[in-house]
Amino acid sequence: MAPDEFPWKTAVAALCRWYSRHARPLPWRRSRDPYRVFLSEIMLQQTRVATVLPYYERFLARFPTVESLASAAPGEVMKLWEGLGYYARGRRLPEAARAVVEMGGWPRDAAGLRRLPGVGRYTAGAVASIAFDAPEPVLDGNVKRVWARLFAMARLLEGEALDRCWDLSRRAVAEGRPSMVNQALMELGATICTFRAPACPACPLRRWCRAAASGAPEGYPKPKLRKATPTVRAAVALLWRGPEFLVALRPPEGLLGGLWELPGGKVEPGETPEAAVVRELREELGARARVTAALPPVRHAYTHFKVVLFPFECRLAAGSAPPRSDRPLAWLRPEARHTLAFPAATLRIFRARFGEETPPFRPSAGRARTGRPNARGGRARRRP
Ligand code: SF4
Repeated sequence: MAPDEFPWKTAVAALCRWYSRHARPLPWRRSRDPYRVFLSEIMLQQTRVATVLPYYERFLARFPTVESLASAAPGEVMKLWEGLGYYARGRRLPEAARAVVEMGGWPRDAAGLRRLPGVGRYTAGAVASIAFDAPEPVLDGNVKRVWARLFAMARLLEGEALDRCWDLSRRAVAEGRPSMVNQALMELGATICTFRAPACPACPLRRWCRAAASGAPEGYPKPKLRKATPTVRAAVALLWRGPEFLVALRPPEGLLGGLWELPGGKVEPGETPEAAVVRELREELGARARVTAALPPVRHAYTHFKVVLFPFECRLAAGSAPPRSDRPLAWLRPEARHTLAFPAATLRIFRARFGEETPPFRPSAGRARTGRPNARGGRARRRP
């Protein structure tokens, strides 16, 4: 059925009835406070609901209002974001909160919301429709899949096909209460029209669905051809000075920006990880170091590559200059590691070396000693 022949009003009504009965009781659905809606939408980008839940609750407990987030120290936000991934989202949250405070309140439409740092077309449409019932369309990975199957679209990820999907979302949102229509579409894609196993008998749109009629709905849309994922080998150091080890702050932009890490770098072709860590400490920090022990390697997968980290215990060699860098450095006691935010792979090295630790983050209790006074200050895709 072509979009112009599709019974939009009837289908959207059926979808909304289904949502009213079957929506999951997620915490961000208890309120239409734009701050809570915004926070949930940012956290849910590229991230599963089950992963987001504890982060959402912890974040709101610490920053219950947009004003409190606007005055947050970046290091504190990053600590709360630690392990959630896609760290640029966390870095930009306080910027967006400050912009809202400066504007004197939340913009109520998508165009206004898109002026906030870190807010794209999808997030703006979601917040405007869910918080303010503005008739703005949304299109995330789940909604794309629903459209691809309803209208039997084989490919839809780019260009014209994507425009077509936005147009379908726009038609749908015009036929009901925007907050409910958009959430219902996303919920259908997340819980019924799933990637691997669409539960068509339970779907309120089944009688209009071309993919279901084909008998093989999971064949829509055709999956993207995936390139092989490269693996990067890196050597990192627990470089000790007495009871403390050295950590360095990553630049604010880019992968893992704003997080702390162990010093080190890529293992070059033909080089052993042990030789690499010694070389990296010399090149990065001007320090001569010796390896005292090798720790178990840690593997971690990012979106576009995998990494194998080879951690080594190191000590400065006699007569070595102290480590220096343009980046902020900090000497840290193991028991104070919870005061700074680290990437997930580094946390795994810490757990293997020091054991579990889950003390609450207490900004004033930080005991990291930094090399600079301000060193602590420093979506696609949604989610079943
Ligand atoms: S009928 Fe099946 S394939 Fe079609 S939208 Fe519903 S769950 Fe998806």
